[in-house]
Amino acid sequence: MNQPLDVLKTIFGYDSFRGQQQAAIEHVIAGQDALVLMPTGGGKSLCYQIPALVRDGVGIVISPLIALMQDQVDALLQLGVKAAFLNSTLTMEQARGIEQQLLNNELDLLYIAPERLSAPRTLELFGRIKIALFAIDEAHCVSQWGHDFRADYLQLSILHERFPTIPRIALTATADERTRQEIIVRLKLEHAPLYLSGFDRPNIRYAIVQKQNARQQLLEFMRSQHEGDAGIVYCLSRKKVEETAQWLRTQGINALPYHAGMTNQDRQQHQQQFLRQESIVIVATIAFGMGIDKPNVRFVAHLDIPKSVEAYYQETGRAGRDGLPANAWMAYGLQDVVTMRRMLAGSDADEAHKRLELHKLDAMLALCEQVHCRRQTLLGYFGDHLEQPCGNCDTCLEPVQTWDGTIAAQQALSCIYRTGSRYGVHYLIDVLLGKQNERIISANHHQQSTFGIGKIGGAGFSRY
Ligand code: ADP
Ligand code: ZN
Repeated sequence: MNQPLDVLKTIFGYDSFRGQQQAAIEHVIAGQDALVLMPTGGGKSLCYQIPALVRDGVGIVISPLIALMQDQVDALLQLGVKAAFLNSTLTMEQARGIEQQLLNNELDLLYIAPERLSAPRTLELFGRIKIALFAIDEAHCVSQWGHDFRADYLQLSILHERFPTIPRIALTATADERTRQEIIVRLKLEHAPLYLSGFDRPNIRYAIVQKQNARQQLLEFMRSQHEGDAGIVYCLSRKKVEETAQWLRTQGINALPYHAGMTNQDRQQHQQQFLRQESIVIVATIAFGMGIDKPNVRFVAHLDIPKSVEAYYQETGRAGRDGLPANAWMAYGLQDVVTMRRMLAGSDADEAHKRLELHKLDAMLALCEQVHCRRQTLLGYFGDHLEQPCGNCDTCLEPVQTWDGTIAAQQALSCIYRTGSRYGVHYLIDVLLGKQNERIISANHHQQSTFGIGKIGGAGFSRY
C-alpha cells in the first residue's frame, strides 16, 4: 500500500503514471524539493497527493483557488482520502475543528489559502504537527511579471526558513522562462530538479479564423461541431460576456455569463452549474478558469485575442482534459490588436512592463497570422520542438494560400513615404487602389507615383 503505484491504483483508480509524474513523486517521497511544470490537465495534483499519502503526516497544499477548495476536498473525501481546507469561508468554529484534526494527526491533506500563512497562529500550529510536505500550487502567482501575481505568495519563502527539512513541491502550468526563473529564486528552489512535461496536447485541434461576423461564426462553429457539448467562450470585456451569453440563449444554447463584476454568489453558482452539468456553455472573461477541472470541456472559443500566447495556451488547455478530441477555436481581427495596444498604452504599468506586454501581444498575433502548423509554432514558443506538422490544426488541415508579397510591400512602404508618413491604413489603401476621393485629390495624392499601383497584379492590399 505504501508504494506510489499501489496508491495510484487503489485510491485513484488509474493503471499507470503519466510522463514525469512518477519521477516527481518518488523524489518528493524521498524528502527532496521539486518544481513541476506541466500543462493544464497534465496531472499535477497527483504529484503532491500521492507523496502526501505515502509520507508520514499531513500534506499542506497552498492554493489561491479558494472557490475550488470545497470541490477539491469533496472529491478527495469521496476517494477515501482524509482531506480538509482552511480559508476565509470557514467560521471560526469550523477552523478550530480542522486545527484539532491536524493536532490529532487525522488528516492526509490540508488545502490552505496563502494569506493564512502569515498568521502567527498558523505557523505555530505547523510547528506542532507532523507535516509530510508543502505543495505550492499555481506557483506562478509568485511572479510579478505574470498575470496572476499574488502578494501573499511572496511570503512563501518562510516555509523553507521555518521548516527546512520538510520537502516542498512547487507546481505550475505557466512555462515561460522568465516566470520559471522567478519561481526558483523567490521560493528558493535553486537546488530542486525540474519535472517538465511535454506541452503538446495532441487531442486539441487548433483553429484561428478571421473575424467577419464573429457571433455568427461562433454559432456556426458550435452548431456544426458541438451541439449539446460543454464549452467555454472567452471575451475581453464584461459587457461583451453578458451580451454574448444572452444572445446565445436566444439561439437556444444553455449559456451562462461569468466575470469579476458579478456578485460572488452568482459567480459561484454559475461555476458550480458548469462543473456539474453536461450540456452547458460558459461565456467568461479571463476571471474564469484557473483550477477548473472539468474533464469533458469539448471546446474553448475566443471571441477576442488573448493578450499572450501563455494566456491562449492556458485557456485553450481547459478543453479536452479527458484526452478525447476537443477544439480550440478563435476568431480574431486586427481591430482587437489595436484595442489591446491602446489598453496597454493607457495602463499605469511602468514602461519596461508595457514593452514586455507588447512583445507578448506581438507573439500572439504572429500565431494568428501563422501560415504553417499552429502547433509547431505554439510548442516552439514554449521551447518544445515538434518534428513534423501536426495534421490536427486548421493550417495543416487546410493549407493557407500564400503569395510573394515583396513587391506589394515595397509599393506600400513607398506610398507611406511619399504621403509623408502621416496617414492611417485606410487612407493609404485608398491611394494604393487609386480611389479618386476628395481627400486624396485635395492632398494631391492622386498625382503621386504610388497612386493606383496596388491595382496592378491585384496584390491584395485591401485585405486589411
Ligand atoms: P492539472 O492540475 O495538471 O491541470 P489534474 O491534476 O487536475 O491536472 O489532472 C487532470 C486530469 O487527469 C484529472 O482528471 C486526473 O484525475 C487525470 N489524471 C492525472 N493523472 C493521471 C494518470 N496517471 N492516469 C490517468 N488519469 C490521470
Ligand atoms: Zn498543425
